[in-house]
Order: sequence, then C-alpha cells, then structure tokens
Amino acid sequence: MGAIERENQFGAHNYEPIPVVLTRGEGVYVWDEAGNRYIDMMGAYSAVSHGHCHPEIVKTIAEQAKTLGVVSRAFYSDKLGIFLQKACEITHQDKALPMNSGAEGVETALKAARKWAYTVKKVPENKAEIIVCEGNFHGRTITIVGMSSEPQYRSGFGPFAAGFKLIPYGDAAALEKAITPNTAAFLVEPIQGEAGIVVPPAGYLKKCEEICRKNNVLLICDEVQTGMGRTGKFLACEHDNVKPDGVILGKALGGGMLPVSLFLSRKDVMDVFTPGDHGSTFGGNPLSAAVGITSLNLLQKEKLIERAAESGEYLMQSLKKIKSPLVLEVRGKGLLVGLSINPRYYSAREICLMLLKEGVLTKDAHQTVVRLAPPLIITKEQLDQVIAAIAKVLQKCESQASVKQE
Ligand SMILES: *Cc1c(COP(=O)(O)O)cnc(C)c1O
Repeated sequence: MGAIERENQFGAHNYEPIPVVLTRGEGVYVWDEAGNRYIDMMGAYSAVSHGHCHPEIVKTIAEQAKTLGVVSRAFYSDKLGIFLQKACEITHQDKALPMNSGAEGVETALKAARKWAYTVKKVPENKAEIIVCEGNFHGRTITIVGMSSEPQYRSGFGPFAAGFKLIPYGDAAALEKAITPNTAAFLVEPIQGEAGIVVPPAGYLKKCEEICRKNNVLLICDEVQTGMGRTGKFLACEHDNVKPDGVILGKALGGGMLPVSLFLSRKDVMDVFTPGDHGSTFGGNPLSAAVGITSLNLLQKEKLIERAAESGEYLMQSLKKIKSPLVLEVRGKGLLVGLSINPRYYSAREICLMLLKEGVLTKDAHQTVVRLAPPLIITKEQLDQVIAAIAKVLQKCESQASVKQE
C-alpha cells in the first residue's frame, strides 16, 4: 500500500492534501519519495518560518531532549522564565502564559478577557461579550468554531458557547456600534490568513485601538499566523503602531518543529488568573521553552523580519507584473501573500496542482486564493524560480481557459 492510500484508509478525512508524499526537508526545500525537490511556498501554514530542520533548532531539541523534556507546571524549570521574558520584551507585553497549539492560545485569551471583564471591568456575571470579525479563523475548538462565520467550520458541531458577536472585518465603525457596557474584548487578526490573505484598509487597527481604549474594551490581536516576522514586522499590528492589550503567538514560535503558543498581555489582564484557574500539561515544558528561545533568537540573528519585508515586497511587485486575466488580485504583506484567482476559469487548487509539477509546493486558501507563505529565509533567486513557475502555469491556464470558454 502506498503512503497516500494508507493515510486515506486509516486516517480521518478532515484534510484534502495535495497528492505528494514528503520525506525530507532542508531550508526552503522539501523532497518527495521519488527524490523530487520542491520549493515550499506553504511553510506549513506559516509554522515553518526558519526553514525546515533549521540546524540550531535541531541542536536545541537534541540537547534539551537529552537534558530535560517535560516536568509539567507542577514545578519550575530553568528554561521557562527565560522564554517568557524574551517573548514579553519583544512584544512589549508584561506577562505571558504558555500553551501548545494556536487554538489553545486563543482559548486562553478568551478566558482572560472574560475574567478581566467580571473582576476588573465589573460586567455582570455571565454577561461578558467578545466581538470577533466575519471571515475570522482562530482555530478549531468548539468555542472557536462557534464564533466563526464560516458554515463549514460550524456545521454539525453545535451547540456553541454564547457571548460572541460578529461584525464585518475592516470596518471600525461597525466595532464602535457593536460595543456595549458588557463588551470585554475585540479579538482580531491584523491580516485574515485563512480567509484568503485579507488585508484590512490602512489605519483600521489604529482606529480599532482608539475605539477600544475609549470604551475600556481589550484589543486582542491573534498573531498566530501574522506574528514572528511573517509580515515584515515582529507583530503585524506594529505596521499600524498599535499596542494591543493581548497578543496570541503560535505556529512559527515552535521553530517549525514543535507546537508552542503564548498568550501575552498587560499585567492587570494576566493577573486575573490565579493558581488552578487554567493550565496545560505540556504548555511551557522545558523542551518547548528551549525551542521558543532559539526560535525568537534566530529571528534577530538571521534578520528574518527584515528579510520578510524585503522579499515580500519583491514577491508582490513581481507578481503584479504578471498580467493575467486569471489573476483578480495580488495582496498581502511581507511573506504572507495571496494570489486571488478568477473562479470562473480555475480553482486555486487546480493552480496549486499545476505548480506542484513545476516544483513549487503550496495550497489554496479559501478555494480562490493561492497562498504564498514560504520560510522567511527564502532567497531572491528562489523567489525568481517561483515567480517564473507561476507565470508559466498562468500562461498555460490562459490558453486552456480560452478553450474552456468556447
Ligand atoms: C492557525 C491559526 C490558529 C490556530 O492554530 P493551531 O495551532 O492550528 O491551533 C489560530 N489563529 C490564527 C490566526 C491561525 O492562523
């Protein structure tokens, strides 16, 4: 039985992978069973920013695994405090709470916001509201899909938790209107990744910050995908000069190797948690903390944030030069770029399947958008290869699309 058949037979069908079986990775490259090499433009949904199997991440894991792996939070470890301090300093937050997956980080933020509303803001019991945006993606737990506007994420999984309000994304006036005396927080992605790399109007987040401040509402930025330098700043909200009351990090924080997430916030928000309120068996374990430290250090040492800004600009400008009737829009920031494909002719998945044959690996976001989010270490020469492959595939499609039309 081949790897694909085996996975399909014994695995739940909750994904529809691109048909390639990967066996090895190094830097920007991954290889399949037959030894074919691909440029990874997917970066594991932005979790692999340092490149595959980064030698310093591998070294950190090997050394820490030999020394001490998991102790649980029943005890202190020599690594956790260093990790949390570093993350607080980089994000300009006071305190951090370690979890594993991004969804757990978001759940932590929701709990903190609600408890802050009751204990600090004095919202009446069980009345706290959290405002989220249409098109949001914050993870897959039942609470989180309950606040989604995407029918497929929700369908069949109800009943859902109460206390969430949906407003249009990119519309600050809608936020102002939705706020009530019971509003605890506004949870927002600075760029909506899974919705198809949706960039809000310039200044949106700044306006949201002002509205939140004025109404004593917490502004919480979900930077699980946009953080860690992906958009050319450490946090995407820095583009708008915004300092959120809470931030969620995940994905690339684990160096492309482990699930490591953090909820970071102001002291008076985090201080609502008391011993026994919240926790995670694996959250903040010495192995994760060591990897987190190295992954944060590497961003600075290898200038990955600056590289994302520069390479992203180059990628966007080069893609915009490809004139194709199939492309509706090129959008994004830094190395989080979406190529929106006219669904009349082709699905983004069809384009991705053709790119696979050209040695470029990626997957569609929201059916109509080709996602381009490679490891931040990608070079200009490698980007040129990707751009040439995209131009070639679009040209091929164009000639076939006119045939399709007739
Ligand atoms: C991926 C993602 C999450 C969820 O992270 P998991 O590790 O898959 O639970 C949350 N928020 C955003 C913005 C994401 O892109």
